[in-house]
Amino acid sequence: MFQKSIPELARGLREGEFSSEELTRGFLDRIGRFDEKLNCVITLTDSAALEAARVADARLKNGDATLLTGIPFLHKDIFCTDGVRTSCGSRMLDNFAAPYDATVTVRLQDAGAVMLGKTNMDEFAMGSSNETSFYGPVKNPWDLQCVPGGSSGGSAAAVAARLAPLATGTDTGGSIRQPAALCGVTGIKPTYGRVSRYGMIAFASSLDQAGPFAASAQDAACMLEVMAGFDPRDSTSIDQPVDAYAGMLDADLSGLTIGLPKEYFGAGLDAGVGAAVQAAIEAYKKLGAQVKEISLPNTSLAVPAYYVVAPAECSSNLSRMDGVRFGYRCEEPKDLEDLYVRSRGEGFGDEVKRRILVGTYALSAGYYDAYYLKAQQVRRLIRDDFVQAFREVDIIMGPTTPGPAFRLGERCDDPVTMYLSDIYTIAVNLAGLPGMSIPAGMVDGLPVGLQLIGDYFAEGRLLNAAHRYQQVTDWHTRLPPGFE
Ligand code: GLN
Repeated sequence: MFQKSIPELARGLREGEFSSEELTRGFLDRIGRFDEKLNCVITLTDSAALEAARVADARLKNGDATLLTGIPFLHKDIFCTDGVRTSCGSRMLDNFAAPYDATVTVRLQDAGAVMLGKTNMDEFAMGSSNETSFYGPVKNPWDLQCVPGGSSGGSAAAVAARLAPLATGTDTGGSIRQPAALCGVTGIKPTYGRVSRYGMIAFASSLDQAGPFAASAQDAACMLEVMAGFDPRDSTSIDQPVDAYAGMLDADLSGLTIGLPKEYFGAGLDAGVGAAVQAAIEAYKKLGAQVKEISLPNTSLAVPAYYVVAPAECSSNLSRMDGVRFGYRCEEPKDLEDLYVRSRGEGFGDEVKRRILVGTYALSAGYYDAYYLKAQQVRRLIRDDFVQAFREVDIIMGPTTPGPAFRLGERCDDPVTMYLSDIYTIAVNLAGLPGMSIPAGMVDGLPVGLQLIGDYFAEGRLLNAAHRYQQVTDWHTRLPPGFE
């Protein structure tokens, strides 16, 4: 049952082949069996899940089910869930039960999807390996000595091991696509503004965007359809109808022009990853696509610009964690100053502190023009590169990451090398474009991700291109050994 697609599960539920309660128990069982090894789940909401499953079963009987009614999913612990701990991977919010639901939470609930629990993540979504979590690192199911990627590492690893058929993630600089690549699953980061950020704990507000993880593009399409849409509570949400993604999957690819940015295939790219990506491009040619080399000349500026913009925004966003209003408070503060200093000092981990320091510096009087403003100007150039490219091509493809999953601990003391894990993904966030990663091969037993980047609101086109590839390949169906 755990290997069925979402349309197959929905059909099984509708036709009474199994109930949502049985399906939910099945996945809770897998979490019980495997999560000790992986550490994907911070909070298990098993009794609420069984209750939601029974409600879904009644809805299925009444005939008012959606495609996701009765389907279990795991929720990244960055989304507010009413009455349920919402930790964001931080000691700061370890004791925080959100007093309301995020819009994404409500949409999934309204569709009848069954939340099994909340997934582990890098603290406040800052990281590329899931090692900055207060709850300890997640392990990659393909090799337990390796990282799953981050920051949505818990969600990616959980879907890879089929602890849930679907999971949510967020992507500020690559946090859906990079862990999807390292864990061998499908993940899509939509256009900025496509999915509401209301109730999604903010890291860098001009970059953050939520999206789904699933085994296949087809399953991701089913979930994105539910997650996406205008929300008057998020002023950056865009009032434009959501395409019926799951109905757009089969379109023919002949006439599709794929752009390959030469900057994405240079030094620094692992040879095995490069070869797998080339093989995937060949498969696209067989499907009728044309390939064209393009240039995104400002690619090398993306990581430096991001590490000004993202810390600047996070230093402002995290100022609300003051030890007063909610979250962690130090013991016996001497005075107000001591309360702030120790609560923040004890509540935040090293990476979060590093970002707050950098961001505060970049925004300080006298430096704002030199750093933040300059980074925003570079951001515009990066966006213009993509706008120019999309005059000539329909989709841009390349590797998602420079290499496969790296070993736990390997990059912990080297933030710059860690930051470079997102060298191919970050520009997409700076430009606000949709991007996705799909499994496209293996090197030394570890998955390789192919990245697809689309024009604004071209999620349907990306999912279509990914689906057509998945119909002629089986990388997305493979299970990590030991998780059968
Ligand atoms: N790895 C990047 C960072 O640490 C991106 C994280 C993300 O997308 N949330 O900031």
